Amino acid sequence: MEWKETSRLAMHWHTSPSNNKIVCTLCPRNCQTQVGQMGFCKVRGNVMGEFHTFNFGKSVTATQECIETEAVNHYMPGARILSLGNIGCMMACTYCQNWQTSQVKHLDNKNVFEYTPEQVIQMAKANNIDVISWTYNDPVVWHEFVLETSRLAKKEGITTLYKSALYIELEPLKELIEVMDIFSISLKSMNNDIYRKETKGKLQPVLDAIELINASDRHLEISQLVVTDLNDDGEDAYKTAKWMVEKLKPGVPLHLVAYHPSFKYKKPRTQLETLLKLRDIVMKEGIEYCYLGNVYADGVSNTRCKSCDNTLVERFGLSVTVPGINDDGNCKQCGAHTPIKFPLAGKPKTHNVPESFEAKQTYAYDWNAEVKSLHIMLQEPSAENILLKVSRMPGNQVQYIELNEGLERIILSKSHAEEQTIEISANSSTKIHYLPVLDRAHFPVLDETIGENSYA
Ligand code: SF4
Repeated sequence: MEWKETSRLAMHWHTSPSNNKIVCTLCPRNCQTQVGQMGFCKVRGNVMGEFHTFNFGKSVTATQECIETEAVNHYMPGARILSLGNIGCMMACTYCQNWQTSQVKHLDNKNVFEYTPEQVIQMAKANNIDVISWTYNDPVVWHEFVLETSRLAKKEGITTLYKSALYIELEPLKELIEVMDIFSISLKSMNNDIYRKETKGKLQPVLDAIELINASDRHLEISQLVVTDLNDDGEDAYKTAKWMVEKLKPGVPLHLVAYHPSFKYKKPRTQLETLLKLRDIVMKEGIEYCYLGNVYADGVSNTRCKSCDNTLVERFGLSVTVPGINDDGNCKQCGAHTPIKFPLAGKPKTHNVPESFEAKQTYAYDWNAEVKSLHIMLQEPSAENILLKVSRMPGNQVQYIELNEGLERIILSKSHAEEQTIEISANSSTKIHYLPVLDRAHFPVLDETIGENSYA
């Protein structure tokens, strides 16, 4: 069935008494639509004088990742998350890395999956995942599904994370603040012209929305994609840091994230040297914790103790260990309080070594300059529990991962600087796609498959 064929009543709209058009008040674009018209996001529209959402439960494949994928470094480091991304978006960034699913005119129905709120919760529980993350294509235009599922998650004790560009009106944001534990916000720039030309949004509503979260007790981290020749000359980083120091609580982390060429924007990737230079600028301006994202290099994303410089959390890409925090959550070396919430709750869970493992298929991949992460995707949701054996070379470190109850996709990343090859074996002959992840927020679609399974 085509995803557009079903819809349900949306929240946040009214009919204008002056022209009888429906005004959507979910995002600051405030689209006005006549009967039969869709809003800018192309997933909400006027159906016979009522405003409907067409993407309730319609999603890209749910994916197991880790919390650092979402530019969250100060909450449950290393925690596994269940990432869900919708279709459509209230913005249209020229460099969007998920344009095949965010921009509806490019959407292929084969990349659309459907979940109920209950299925999402069940998948998280069956796979022992503690955090549900609303991410990828911006969750703003998925408001009804996000709210309903997050309310269920709270009842089940599951942590909720909202990763967004936050181009949203304040009333719907207040509803999100009630049910989200963590907000990771992508502030594109401090230049309204960049917002207008490159994202089709506006800066001030985003700043207002961030301040509203900051005034709540919810966990907040800010990230900025550093795009070559757009916002990489230091001025944006300086203004972002200045604004954060003036307006936000002390200690809110800032992630400076490398971009890769995508969609309409084809300038080269952001260089590590650029990010290091910008990090110096923001630290000088008073940012206490600055992390570099989408960078596979030692030491650029570690958390260090402010009192004694001990390494509290060590990160390489998306691999995380917590060597420097004791059971009370304090620095092991000097006893100082750390900025990390629930530092040991997110300890990566390892699956037991099975008594026997019969590989039905194996795939090996050599990491290279472009690709340091892969999505592994089952062709069909697993009816049976599928066990993956992951071997990393050189060294042949082995780890086992289970996929249960409809979970179809996971991310695997290069875990240390010397690692050259990853080998993945499965105890099932189910068809598996291997997809390159060019950027941690990139959700590769099926057409980007670089390898498929080999049957035993
Ligand atoms: S959510 Fe969609 S329909 Fe509503 S104002 Fe924003 S872009 Fe327009």
